Amino acid sequence: MPHANSLLCLSAESFWRERGVCREFAIRAEIDDLSCLGSVIPPSNRVDISLELVAEGATILVDGALSAEWVGTCRRCLVEVGGLLTVPVHEMYRQDADDGLVYPITGGIIDLEPLVRDMLLTSLPLAPLCGEGCKGLCPGCGADLNHEDCACGLTSVTR
Ligand SMILES: [Zn+2]
Ligand SMILES: [Zn+2]
Repeated sequence: MPHANSLLCLSAESFWRERGVCREFAIRAEIDDLSCLGSVIPPSNRVDISLELVAEGATILVDGALSAEWVGTCRRCLVEVGGLLTVPVHEMYRQDADDGLVYPITGGIIDLEPLVRDMLLTSLPLAPLCGEGCKGLCPGCGADLNHEDCACGLTSVTR
C-alpha cells in the first residue's frame, strides 16, 4: 500500500529544468494524524490538494489551496459538528532553507506533506460551536439547554 508520504514528494529537478514553467499538482490524499484539541480530519476524509508549482531561481513557489471535511464536537453542548475547511497556500521551498520561513528541499525532493500538515493543523477549529447561540449543557445536571430545561435549578434561574 503506497504511503501518503511518497505521493506528496516531488522531484525539484524537473522544476529547475524548466524554470518559469508552472505545473499543476492535484491529488486527493489520505493523511493521518490531522487533529487538534476540538476537531479532526479523519484519514477517510481525504484532503483535496490543488497546487501550482513553479521554479523561480533556486526557489520553488507553491500556490493553491487545500480543502477537507473536518468533524469535531461543539465546545458547549458536545454534539457532533463539522464543516469544510479550505486553506489558501502561498509558500516557498528552497534548498538552503534555514530561516524557518521557507520549506526545505532535501536531497532534491519537495516534500509537500509538512506543508499540508502545517496549513491544515493551524486552520482546524480549536473550539468549534454547533451555532453561535448554543446554550450548552448545565454544569449541574448535564441537561442540554438547547433542547430541554435544567432539572437541578442551577442554570434555570439565569435563563
Ligand atoms: Zn452546541
Ligand atoms: Zn441543571
